[in-house]
Amino acid sequence: MAEKYEELIDKLTEEGDLSDDELLALITMPTGSGEGLFPNTPQAASDPCERLPLSLSFTEAEKALFDAADRVRRREYKTAVYVRGLIEFSSFCRNDCYYCGIRRDNRNLKRYRLSCDQILSCTDQGYDLGYRTFVLQGGEDPYYTDQMICDIVSSIKERHPDCAITLSIGEKERESYQRYFDAGAERYLLRHETADTRHYSLLHPAELSLEHRKKCLFDLKEIGYQVGSGFMVGSLGQTAGCLLEDIRFLQTLMPDMIGIGPYLTHHDTPLRDCCNGSLTMTLRLISILRLIFPYALIPATTALGTIHPLGREMGMKAGANVVMPNLSPVKVRKQYQLYDNKICTGELSSECRGCMERRTSSSGYQLVIDRGDVKAH
Ligand code: SAM
Repeated sequence: MAEKYEELIDKLTEEGDLSDDELLALITMPTGSGEGLFPNTPQAASDPCERLPLSLSFTEAEKALFDAADRVRRREYKTAVYVRGLIEFSSFCRNDCYYCGIRRDNRNLKRYRLSCDQILSCTDQGYDLGYRTFVLQGGEDPYYTDQMICDIVSSIKERHPDCAITLSIGEKERESYQRYFDAGAERYLLRHETADTRHYSLLHPAELSLEHRKKCLFDLKEIGYQVGSGFMVGSLGQTAGCLLEDIRFLQTLMPDMIGIGPYLTHHDTPLRDCCNGSLTMTLRLISILRLIFPYALIPATTALGTIHPLGREMGMKAGANVVMPNLSPVKVRKQYQLYDNKICTGELSSECRGCMERRTSSSGYQLVIDRGDVKAH
């Protein structure tokens, strides 16, 4: 049995792809971790969520998958881990995604916005800490006009011309994306969240559409951005078939960055009774994605670090090569609460930097001071 999976892993490593049935077999192979791999099928959603043990054991096939992905990441990027300074600059959002703690209808959240000066002081501090790329992320907040976003981007560029700027501010018109690009933004993160229309509608209200989200991603690509997409693992109703569709969609988009993390519950959302997504499945998918997209920039996300104290370390060993420490002012960090128990909300930016450096080197990799551009592909 184990041999069958090891053959699939070898084939995926050599050929960079598998048939649908083969990929499904790898996605659903037995686990040694004891975790439920699909905790949020509608029937299981009311089951109690179990806490994960500190040390997880994996099957030989799972270990072989992680090792194969690690060999490919080392071939492509050696031991480098790229670091992005994350500035969460607005917790206002006009959207009402069912899973997200900063959704419009969450009246219990104290909201905040950062001014251009506050953002610049975060990037100055980040520059001194050695960051050469900044990610500006926020809810979809109409308070920031296109002109304001362009002014923020060009002001950062003026002060730090050697830095790359990434925006992650949701779905916009193509002309807006073009204006931000012309102002100096080079990268854009927009997870597609799920490539399955039925699954999309379990997670989003009817006014949001998968079709439009996909259109945004292709617009961004055509404009010339380095584009990041991705999805949550273990959200309500996600099946192995949904994950297969996610992979197939990513193969049509060929993004430069792929961000995945476990779905995590937030107590003030309609999905409050769901369980957290699976750490094991997230690691498995990081490895599969590394083998299909050897060139990709794949973060070990904050959600991975939230679901397990060593989640980001495990993510790096399974093929991730990016970390995104928080650079937002400490006083607002708790208010960007996408999910419960989010980590890194109390530390100073310098402490986050030091912590990430230790976690990276203890995993056998090196945090590098670099813009961390994607390899040609
Ligand atoms: N508004 C922008 C957008 O829509 O892309 C960026 C902000 S949005 C909050 C960033 C990401 O957070 C989403 O793409 C989603 O995958 C993730 N997220 C939101 N709620 C989450 C949850 N409960 N668990 C895990 N990830 C979540």
